[in-house]
Amino acid sequence: AMAAGCGNSSSSTSGTGKTTKSGGGSSSGSGKIALLLPDTTSSARYETQDKPDFMAQVQKLDSTAKVDYENAQGDSSTQQQQAEAAITNGAKVLVIDPVDSQAAATIVTAAHRSGVKVISYDRLITKSPVDYYVSFNNEEVGKLQGQFIADHTKQGGNVVMINGAQTDNNALLFAKGAHEVLDPLVKQGKFKIAYETFTPNWDPANGLREMEQALTKLNNHVDGVLSANDGLAGSIIQALNAQSLAGKVPVTGQDATDAGLHAIMQGKQSMTVYKAVPQEAVVAAQLAVDLLQNKTPDSTVVNGTTDNGSGNVPSVLLKPVVVTKDNIQDTVIKDGFTTMDKINNPA
Ligand code: BGC
Repeated sequence: AMAAGCGNSSSSTSGTGKTTKSGGGSSSGSGKIALLLPDTTSSARYETQDKPDFMAQVQKLDSTAKVDYENAQGDSSTQQQQAEAAITNGAKVLVIDPVDSQAAATIVTAAHRSGVKVISYDRLITKSPVDYYVSFNNEEVGKLQGQFIADHTKQGGNVVMINGAQTDNNALLFAKGAHEVLDPLVKQGKFKIAYETFTPNWDPANGLREMEQALTKLNNHVDGVLSANDGLAGSIIQALNAQSLAGKVPVTGQDATDAGLHAIMQGKQSMTVYKAVPQEAVVAAQLAVDLLQNKTPDSTVVNGTTDNGSGNVPSVLLKPVVVTKDNIQDTVIKDGFTTMDKINNPA
């Protein structure tokens, strides 16, 4: 059942590939791409990075191409309607970050019926013959979070795991990766996973309630919190703070948001997993424009496959990087992902 997204995949950090034309495919003409993102509340990334970075790169590669952008605001049926509307309005390529990895298979069916290609963006659409998948090595993200908790939780301590949304295949992979690292240590008696839950919609408001419940249930005996992303970490820190525990307990994160990096500088969040979203958006834009122009994406860019339960999906999987106070300069700042000014004054 966990076949989805766990297949053998190799990774590439190259975002600028050449393309080869297949069978004298037509060159660029004005065509339409639809970019469908999942929500605006679970992470700052969608509005501040994925959307503008993707749009800019498409324009750069094909100034005649149009991008229709829609955001599902966390509702899977809204996303379905947005996809159907995009197909009706003449989009030739859908780039979808699914609200619900399984439900989105219906979108792929509808798209293919109309000769429209689908790129699964960041989250895998499972059990469906989706055309391409662009993401990060997501199981590795979970392993990095799990390893951090393993290295920083005291002997015999209680670990709390606040996972993402169960409808997001990524959240399943993050939790899987974390368990791969933690479970053997739990068996050895190093510490306990005393509380674990998934978080509907990755909603920080849900995360706050979950962490409050964990603290109540464990009488504040919490020694490490594996938070799946920075949005949830913000809520977790708020709940810890109310018990005067913020800064005393290791808390993980993901996305290297300005708010997350700010909390790291303050010593309240311990780490984040940095994923070069601009690179991900650039690769997705390249593939989308290739498909729009009837070209076959270059095999040095699409350099892996992922078994999504329906077959092997041609994939590009980028590499996640751990960021702590010690390497902020050498990672997110050096790459131009953000600035110290933004970190000091998060939105
Ligand atoms: C993404 C994360 C993000 C989370 C919540 C996941 O699918 O990979 O970067 O934090 O969704 O939006």
